[in-house]
Amino acid sequence: MPTDVLNEILARVQQVYDWLAEAIGALNPVCRACGTCCDFENYGHRLYITTPEMLYFLHHLPLDFRVMTDGVCPYRENGLCGVYLYRFAACRIFTCTSDPRRQHQLSEEAIRRFKELCVQYDLPYRYIDLKYALSRPELWLA
Ligand code: SF4
Ligand code: SF4
Repeated sequence: MPTDVLNEILARVQQVYDWLAEAIGALNPVCRACGTCCDFENYGHRLYITTPEMLYFLHHLPLDFRVMTDGVCPYRENGLCGVYLYRFAACRIFTCTSDPRRQHQLSEEAIRRFKELCVQYDLPYRYIDLKYALSRPELWLA
């Protein structure tokens, strides 16, 4: 992909994250950063990501891609997110103490924007379970 096109896509993803930061801030989420919800298996929930988010993530990732081998996100470090600035929209939106209905609305809108990006830039649209996405590097690093 040409660098200028990639940069445009990355900037558009950043815009979505900026919009999310404002929208999530309005919810006043309370998170004690315990990292429990990054253990998908034990917490019992699933988060989903899209292609543009993974492009953004891989571009900024300050370390090697870590493969998820169990139910715990491999980027969780001592309970905290080791890729906090580049984490996925679902990671930004989910808080165990916030209104699930509003979180669902924000997720839907974020997904709509990412899907629109895929159409505009002719990217293959993927909406995929984060656990699956991190356990299959061949999907992204081929
Ligand atoms: S990317 Fe960060 S916030 Fe998202 S599941 Fe992994 S450790 Fe948790
Ligand atoms: S959202 Fe809840 S479970 Fe997840 S890190 Fe914050 S306090 Fe812990």
